[in-house]
Amino acid sequence: MKNIFPKNIVISTIKDINSILFPHHKKRVVLMMFLILIGGILDVLGLAAILPVASLVFDPSNIHKSHLCHTIFVSLGFENDNSFLYFVLVCFWFIFLFKNAAAAVISFLQSRFSYGVATDISQKQFENIMNQDLQYFNDHNSTNLVRNIQIMPFHFSTYLLLPSLMLMSEIVVLIIILTAISLYDIAVIGLMFITLTPSFILTYKLIKSRTQFYETERNRLNTELTKQAYQTIHGYIDVKLFYKEKYFLSLFKVNQAKFKHLFTNAYTLNLIPSKIIELTAISAVIIMFFYTLYVPSAKDSISVMLPLFIAAAYRVMPSMNRMLIALGSIKGFQYVIQIIKDGLQPIPNTSENLNNEALIFNTNIEFRDVSYQYPSGKKPSVDGLNMTILKGQKVGIIGKSGSGKTTIINILLRFLKEQQGGLYIDNKRITVNEDNQWRQLIGYVKQSVFIIDGDFYENIAFGVAKQDIDHEKLNKVIKLSKLDEVVEKSAFGLNSNIGENGTRLSGGQRQRIAIARALYKDAQILVFDEATSALDNQTEKEITESIEAISKEDKTMFIVAHRITTLKNCDIIYEIENGKITGSFTYEEIAKTILEN
Ligand code: ADP
Repeated sequence: MKNIFPKNIVISTIKDINSILFPHHKKRVVLMMFLILIGGILDVLGLAAILPVASLVFDPSNIHKSHLCHTIFVSLGFENDNSFLYFVLVCFWFIFLFKNAAAAVISFLQSRFSYGVATDISQKQFENIMNQDLQYFNDHNSTNLVRNIQIMPFHFSTYLLLPSLMLMSEIVVLIIILTAISLYDIAVIGLMFITLTPSFILTYKLIKSRTQFYETERNRLNTELTKQAYQTIHGYIDVKLFYKEKYFLSLFKVNQAKFKHLFTNAYTLNLIPSKIIELTAISAVIIMFFYTLYVPSAKDSISVMLPLFIAAAYRVMPSMNRMLIALGSIKGFQYVIQIIKDGLQPIPNTSENLNNEALIFNTNIEFRDVSYQYPSGKKPSVDGLNMTILKGQKVGIIGKSGSGKTTIINILLRFLKEQQGGLYIDNKRITVNEDNQWRQLIGYVKQSVFIIDGDFYENIAFGVAKQDIDHEKLNKVIKLSKLDEVVEKSAFGLNSNIGENGTRLSGGQRQRIAIARALYKDAQILVFDEATSALDNQTEKEITESIEAISKEDKTMFIVAHRITTLKNCDIIYEIENGKITGSFTYEEIAKTILEN
């Protein structure tokens, strides 16, 4: 047995599956195994019923030779053998109906369980991803992350969990069938063992390493192709401007050709086991025929054994084939196990929000001796920063590109954690557990605003179900962020779709959406990061006006700006260089310096 079911891979996969399954899955696995056993028994019973029924039909006198049949015949009051045979055949049909209906229900329960496991894993991974820090997203390719969450759990269920259950169910059925046959004729079992077992082992040896190679390679190429397709779709404008369609298509074609080759080979490889096993069985039959030619005395015993061997082989061969496919699948999709395990790793220091209430912020925000160095950086990008911002203050931040402005903002948003110093609110240091509560106070208007592929409602009342939207507040923030004209001009008003990533909006309009979103959230602190650098003069004027309108509200504001006009309403403007404050100015001082130069 050790060689037939390669211990290392099957046992280690079952152990891995066991370590991946959630506690409530484990309870249900026991139920699944029980159902599999029932299915196996019904399967064998159905088959076992064929012989007695056939013997009754071909020789009705057997009805009265069998004690059981005769008792039923008498107690149900049958008048003749034919009416009893009708009854037997109808019962026989119902046994098969029941057996197959039960098999369908068991398959349904088995796949519902397996795909339930997939969705649970997928959701847990999704939750884990949400708890990762910004650095994690900088370090990982987004296509891979999406595949790991969405595709891999379903691969796990389809190619590891279901095949393992299938393998167990086939083993159960095989044991029952072989035991039943051995009761009839032990020689047939011996014959099956010496013919089918070696071919089973050889076939498995033949396919296993190939299958593993094909599946691992298919996964690698699939990721590569998805990435290439995404890049071409997102990079449409650049691809067209550089007239590089052919170049990107040729890259895609190279990988597609390999992909086609892998699909063809993997598919063919799946068909091979059944062919080899069938060939072996038929070879055994032919050898027996030859034997009868040379040793005529063996004819009698072979003629008894042969029909049973053929009948048994026809039932056992598909079973063996399914087992080989299951084994091949388990071997081929080993790479999924590590991906799933990694995705389910508990994340240390997650900002698990114990309390959903926003933090209270009354007097000031303080960067106290804050330093941050990126893992791949050679020197700190923020270096001993000390900065205090009073509640309601409008703070401008200027500095050359690469001076550390975005890093400071990411520390403020708690997406990056300083290695030295700390961020203090009302003289109290923000802890890891308070990240979510702190972020609830903040509205962030980035240079590239993230827009959901949906309407104005979904984009302004971000993450709020339509029926829960406060329309009065929504209308107010639309006016305040100067979006009313955009909404009016859109064909379906607030219900108009903005398009994936806001493709149907201008850069300025997208930023106004972000402003409206921050205001709808009642953010007390608004952060504008290079909000106006990519805008034309008209849009810049409009954004500056909306910032001005918001400035009148009691909001604390950080404005990281390229254009000086945006800073008009700032109480203080800090200049940053090499992650440090190198000067602080009023707007008038800055404007004067520019005029003088
Ligand atoms: P700014 O917003 O002022 O243009 P940043 O805060 O983006 O500046 O960057 C400050 C410094 O940190 C730069 O030298 C930049 O190269 C470096 N930096 C920014 N992001 C990363 C990163 N993810 N990994 C490594 N270095 C980074």
